[in-house]
Amino acid sequence: MAAAPTGDDAKCYVLVPCAGSGERAGAGGPKQYRQIAGRAVVAHTLAALARVPRIEKTLVVLAPDDHDFAANAPGFAGWVERCGGSTRAASVAAGLKALARRGVRAHDWVLVHDAARCLVAPAALDRLIDVCRADVVGGLLALPLADTLKQGDADDRVIATLDRSGKWAAQTPQMFRLGVLQQALARAGDQVTDEASAIEALGHAPRLVRGEPDNFKLTWPADFALAERLLTPADEIVAVVPARDFELSLRFYSDLGFDLDDNDGRLATLRRGRLAFSLQDFYVAAHASNFVMHLLVDDLDAWAARCAAFAAQYVAHGVRASAVERRPWGLRDMTLIDPSGVLWRIAERPRAKEQA
Ligand code: C5P
Repeated sequence: MAAAPTGDDAKCYVLVPCAGSGERAGAGGPKQYRQIAGRAVVAHTLAALARVPRIEKTLVVLAPDDHDFAANAPGFAGWVERCGGSTRAASVAAGLKALARRGVRAHDWVLVHDAARCLVAPAALDRLIDVCRADVVGGLLALPLADTLKQGDADDRVIATLDRSGKWAAQTPQMFRLGVLQQALARAGDQVTDEASAIEALGHAPRLVRGEPDNFKLTWPADFALAERLLTPADEIVAVVPARDFELSLRFYSDLGFDLDDNDGRLATLRRGRLAFSLQDFYVAAHASNFVMHLLVDDLDAWAARCAAFAAQYVAHGVRASAVERRPWGLRDMTLIDPSGVLWRIAERPRAKEQA
């Protein structure tokens, strides 16, 4: 490889190209500013990068007319340049120049990371840095292909099945020394879609460092829904249901299909998959008989059948299960009254709108 000056004092910088318009992601503006789990995509990306102490500084490359970054990345303490180009490669090349102007040396490492890969894990970044710092070329996060690979034609018909052995899907970051990367991109031009291919064109063989499936690039509308699920904290709100006869109510809910997670004799947690609530040995008639639990389920008829099968055993304790009805407000539901007079309204969950 070209004789780039080396040395143990080489530092690690990150360059985040953030100047794309994200047309494949559908309506809603550039994808890096779409909101996911309460903040912009790029804010998640920068937060993940900030968790890696070995990164000296991060440079974000924006489009020249970008007015949205500051509001979408509050508190970002890195460098920002409005030098984005018409392709990703042009934005990266301009960013590399800006890094050199700011004093980054030719033998320092630059990790180029897409703003639109907001689920990159700090552990994967550390792995990449460890492998590349010990390597003469540098490398990239990538995933070995698991699926069979098809070649399609313009009508989406298979024209060939390709050999998938030894094939990897390239991710980012891609980590190379500044000087070599500048030289590689200058030679490769603006159309390369990643840094590694420019380095390969110089005759070098970048290292493939195993990444993680979560580090996908938000590209298609459905990717945003997946990122939302993965980035939403698993915090819970748990209702506390009153019980007149605690042991009786525990038996009732166990027959309904809830498992006992925890029970200190006065407060129990009941769980069925992702559904959970607490049952408390506490009873005030006016409270219990006005307490409503609203459960949205995918298979209402299965719930109705389960309730009908066991509710009769509890009739003497005031338990009642209604038939399924369509309500004036549009939902199909049924009601179940528990042994303490608590009303459960069990409704069929409205179908989510199909993703484009
Ligand atoms: O469009 P694509 O999905 O390949 O974009 C990958 C990354 O490159 C995104 O973070 C995007 O903002 C950035 N990009 C850029 N300048 C462009 C095109 C894309 O910085 N002209």
